[in-house]
Amino acid sequence: MIWVSDTIGMLPFKLIYSEDYFLPIGAHVFPAEKYKGVHDRLLALKVAEAADFVAPGAAADEDVLLVHTPQYVQKLKTGTLSAREELEMELPYSPELVRAFWMAAGGSMLAADWALNDGVAINIGGGFHHAFPDHGEGFCMINDIAIAIRRMQRDEKIRTAMTIDCDVHQGNGTAAIFSASSDVFTISLHQRNNYPAFKPPSSLDMNLPDGMGDDEYLACLGSAMSLGLSKLKPELICYVAGADPYRDDQLGGLSLTLEGLKERDALVFRRAKAEGIPLMVTFAGGYARKLKDTVTIHSNTIIAAMEVYAGK
Ligand SMILES: [Zn+2]
Repeated sequence: MIWVSDTIGMLPFKLIYSEDYFLPIGAHVFPAEKYKGVHDRLLALKVAEAADFVAPGAAADEDVLLVHTPQYVQKLKTGTLSAREELEMELPYSPELVRAFWMAAGGSMLAADWALNDGVAINIGGGFHHAFPDHGEGFCMINDIAIAIRRMQRDEKIRTAMTIDCDVHQGNGTAAIFSASSDVFTISLHQRNNYPAFKPPSSLDMNLPDGMGDDEYLACLGSAMSLGLSKLKPELICYVAGADPYRDDQLGGLSLTLEGLKERDALVFRRAKAEGIPLMVTFAGGYARKLKDTVTIHSNTIIAAMEVYAGK
C-alpha cells in the first residue's frame, strides 16, 4: 500500500493565511473580509485544500523594529497615536488592529521563507506598502513587505531583493524605506493621478495615465521588469499584487479587466520562474464595487501561479 501524506497539499507552493488577518475596522472601504473570501473560494473551487495553507505566527516586535522606529512602535503598542496620526492611517486604532498587522507581517516573513524553499509562496494578505518607518498611512499600519525583506537579510538568507508593486497606488512607504539601500530595487507601476500626492522616488516608477487598459499596462510591466532586472538580479522578488488597477475599482482609475489582471500576475510569475528567482506575493489593495470581483482577482493570482509553476 502506498501511503500518501495528507499534509502535502494540491499546490506546488504554500498559501500563507490566518483568520487573524481580518482587520477589525467596521464599515470601511477596505473590505477586511476579502482574505477569508479568497481562502474559502480557493477551497470551493478545489484549487487548494486545507494542507496547502500554512498559518503564520505574529511578527515579533524586534522584526517590526528592523523597519520601524522605536517611537512609532511604542505608540502602536500603547495606544498613544495622536488624532492626526490615526487620521493619516485612515483606520480606527485598536489593540486588535495592531495584532492583525503584526500577523500580516508574520505572514509575509513566512512567505519569504517558503518562497526560497519552493520558488514561490503567496501570503493571502499583507502588502501594506503605504507604511513608513515612523508613521502609517492609507490603510497601512506597518510595512510587512519591508519587514520580510529586512528579516531575510538579517538572517543572511538573502542579500538582495526587488519589489514589483502593481497596486494602483504608488508604493510610497516601500520606496522611502529602501531609498538609500542599493541592495533592494523597488519598482512601482501606478496611476499618476492618484494617492499619494507626493510620491517618494522608487528605484523605478512607472507613472501611468488615467484609464490605461490591459495591453498597454502589460507592455509597461514587461519593460519595467526588464529594466529592473538589468540593474539588479535579486535573490528574492516581492510581488505586490494589488487588485485595484481593476476598471471597476472605487479608488483606482486604470481600466484593467479581470483577464488582464490575471495575465499581469502570470507575466510576473513567468519572468521570475524563467530567471530562477524566488518570488513571494502579497495582496495589498482592492476596492471593487462588488466584493466578489476583488475576491476573484486575488483568487486568480493563486490560479495564475498554479498554472505557471505547476504547468497546469
Ligand atoms: Zn492601492
